[in-house]
Amino acid sequence: MYRGAMSKKRAARPKSKRTERREAERDAVKLAEARIRLASLEAGGSPERPIEVTSASIVEPHAASLGCAACGGTTRVEEHAAVTLPDSSGVPRSLRVARTRCARCGVQRQIYFRLGTTLAN
Ligand SMILES: [Zn+2]
Repeated sequence: MYRGAMSKKRAARPKSKRTERREAERDAVKLAEARIRLASLEAGGSPERPIEVTSASIVEPHAASLGCAACGGTTRVEEHAAVTLPDSSGVPRSLRVARTRCARCGVQRQIYFRLGTTLAN
């Protein structure tokens, strides 16, 4: 004879509207966090993975064109700065960083660019 607790099925009770809404909000936050995490692994998401551009004038339109990582909304470039950061092998690199903010959800991102890279290696 086995224990009743082990065989007891979870009661499928209908969820209240409030519970449903809370769960939907929690799911949306989780989804947004996952998308932001994913975006940080894409080109431009970190100093180790800059987007290579041929001119500084491309940085801002390119950053704005990426859209919001969390909701896909339109982003605005709030700041565009020249920074020097070590790459994955510790060599200092001159990078451009564009700070964007989503007009819809307010999520901020930093997108990294490297200038003047020639395609031939
Ligand atoms: Zn957004």
